[in-house]
Amino acid sequence: MLMKSDADMTPDNAAEQEEGVPVSVKIRERLREARQRFHSNDNIAAFIEPGELDKLLEEVTDKMQGVLDSMVIDTESDHNTGDTARRVAKMYLKEVFAGRYVKGPAITEFPNAEHLNELMIVGPITVRSACSHHFCPVIGKIWIGVMPNEHTNVIGLSKYARLAEWVMGRPQIQEEAVVQLADLIQEKTQPDGLAIVMEASHYCMSWRGVKDMDSKMINSVMRGVFLKDATLRREFLSLIPRQSV
Ligand SMILES: [Zn+2]
Repeated sequence: MLMKSDADMTPDNAAEQEEGVPVSVKIRERLREARQRFHSNDNIAAFIEPGELDKLLEEVTDKMQGVLDSMVIDTESDHNTGDTARRVAKMYLKEVFAGRYVKGPAITEFPNAEHLNELMIVGPITVRSACSHHFCPVIGKIWIGVMPNEHTNVIGLSKYARLAEWVMGRPQIQEEAVVQLADLIQEKTQPDGLAIVMEASHYCMSWRGVKDMDSKMINSVMRGVFLKDATLRREFLSLIPRQSV
């Protein structure tokens, strides 16, 4: 490739150069300019322009092919892996990690017309994620306890599952995932109290590592009245049938 000096840079050349810039670099530049964090469990949909996700898919496919090449897998002769690079790229970007690349689900909030003020529990909601350390699956269940007040917004029961799916659809750390979900539900519904318990199997413990098939990680977040009121907290914890996992 011929190197050109800056003086040779006509607008045409500039456009050509722009063409060669990987789309991931453009997206990263926008994020940096906006001083926006882009950790594995952050959503970056607002910085991706229409059509760019498909370009990102091409880019990740090429890189994934490089990984297979470096793993000395003959993807040309091996009919099983011929299309693996694209399959994995698609799985990451459009399926298991879609929660990074697409905007959050549309949720309609309604005023609490019935003045509900009793503990409400939603769950178990099945959640699927992957750990950001190994990209190994994390599969589990969550329970959400909401203590509404008269100003709390009400959202449909299925919407809790949609919000959970969006947050979990990123390379996650269980402790951070439940906090992200709590922040989101808090922001949408403004309850007096919010409690979330998550129990999950981490495949990086069973498939690799210590190869312990039965260990599960349980964690919780308690907000508002759930923090202050031990009786309420006990009531919530006694009502979730965790052994069913
Ligand atoms: Zn892991």
